Amino acid sequence: GNGAHVPVLIIGTGYGGSVAALRLAQAGVDVHMVEMGKSWDTPGSDGKIFANTTSPDERSFWLRTRTKQPLSNFLGFPIDKDVPRHTGILDAEEFAGITVYQGRGVGGGSLVNGGMAVTPLRSRFSGVLPSVNADEMYDIYYPRANSGLGVMEVDRAWFDTTDCYQYARVGRKHAQRSGFEFVYVPNVYDFNYMKQEAANAVPRSALAGEILYGNNYGKKSLQKTYLAQAKATGRVSISPLHRVTSVTPASTGGYTVSIEQLDTTGAVTGTKTVTADRVFFAAGSVGTSKLLVKLRATGALPNLNSEIGKGWGDNGNVMCGRANHLWDPTGSLQSAIPTGGIDNWDAGGAFAEVAPLPTGIETFASFYLSITNTPHRAEFSWNAGAGRVDLNWQTAWKQTSIDMAKTIFDKINRKEGTIYRTDLFGTYKIWGDHLTYHPLGGAVLNKATDNYGRLRGYSGLYAIDGSLIPGNTSVNPFVTITALAERNIEKIIATDL
Ligand code: FAD
Repeated sequence: GNGAHVPVLIIGTGYGGSVAALRLAQAGVDVHMVEMGKSWDTPGSDGKIFANTTSPDERSFWLRTRTKQPLSNFLGFPIDKDVPRHTGILDAEEFAGITVYQGRGVGGGSLVNGGMAVTPLRSRFSGVLPSVNADEMYDIYYPRANSGLGVMEVDRAWFDTTDCYQYARVGRKHAQRSGFEFVYVPNVYDFNYMKQEAANAVPRSALAGEILYGNNYGKKSLQKTYLAQAKATGRVSISPLHRVTSVTPASTGGYTVSIEQLDTTGAVTGTKTVTADRVFFAAGSVGTSKLLVKLRATGALPNLNSEIGKGWGDNGNVMCGRANHLWDPTGSLQSAIPTGGIDNWDAGGAFAEVAPLPTGIETFASFYLSITNTPHRAEFSWNAGAGRVDLNWQTAWKQTSIDMAKTIFDKINRKEGTIYRTDLFGTYKIWGDHLTYHPLGGAVLNKATDNYGRLRGYSGLYAIDGSLIPGNTSVNPFVTITALAERNIEKIIATDL
């Protein structure tokens, strides 16, 4: 409530925030989490908590009156539609040069993501987090993160025969025929549940195309893993539909945190201030960066250093589709949960997920989200005139990522005698180069913070989310965000509390 005092306040309930909450609570510390999105624990009028990908409704988007789907077109037709403005689950946050997709609600990105739970190859780790001891990460913290997240591998024999992974097998065949390594990618989805979905023994979730707007059954989002464990300690409370707007030193020691209460139209219905001995910024790369950049510029936290806002990257995300021959159908039933990727990182700078196009009809399309080794990094800055934080990302920078992705798909197209789809991102547009699913950086480890996420300039303030990672993880990021949070919170509990 207003005027309360808490030992620890955590801003955001994604991966970093959930790890911090659980480990602090287990160490005997009372924790309060503040989350601007909904709690996502109550069914809508259709009896389901989350909306389906094929029929977006008010639950689908964060404060928009029209959907902004990552694939904006299909067979030449725009597919976006009007929806009531609501504190929905997927935020398509627009900056000048890029749209950044993020999850909103208790569980953060775990609510909306594909669940691909990838530990980077150890040989690539020094390129991801150069100041972090790799032995500790691979011996202790990556295993701890994989276990805490409930990461599983698909049963290969089942993968080889089930209808719902025909699209992935076509992706594998095309990759291997062109000489690329196809790697199986672990996931937090319960593959035993998926097998039952395929057998029509349980309500369908991955096999009903649920992705982007939440998953009603099989995916182990943070609500089912870290956050469930954290709540079970009895020491963690969560305020959904509460947005932190300011953190500033309190005259009595600790920090004063200003919070807006929202209704489901996004209107501010009240404000509160609480004091906290320690504050963890876990609002995601964009959320944490925006808060810190604003608070430094407006005088609430003037001693934050000049690295705040820097080192932001898009994990090199770029999307494309390929049109297959009529004898290479990808299947009308596609599991929304990806299980494989094409690894051409060392030779061409690209790791491409074989992604689903769960439209419910045969598309003869192969669809990919590539993660590329792009060197480009952007910076957040405070725009005083507009009263907002801007990002100086340039859309043209994506050409580097496109070139890297083409090292895979140009070769496959030559080998297969196929072409790129031109109907998925507009009319006659091959590349989805306007977006990222993987924002990283803005409060980079060992620069804006010390080597454990303590924000420089203030004791008792920490960053513990994707903002710490300097722009790229070589694979999908959430396992690395989780493992780094496990490493940092262990050190912080041992030495700061
Ligand atoms: P987040 O998970 O983003 O959590 C931050 C939370 O803070 C959010 O809930 C937000 O609402 C809240 N917040 C923000 N600002 C405030 C504020 N001022 N006050 C209160 N609360 C606030 N990664 C993978 O590894 N594998 C995948 O398969 C994968 N697929 C993806 C698919 C999609 C469509 C998207 C969007 C992302 C995907 N990702 C994937 C990325 C992954 O989800 C993110 O990297 C991850 O969620 C980031 O974790 P985080 O802890 O940094 O922050």
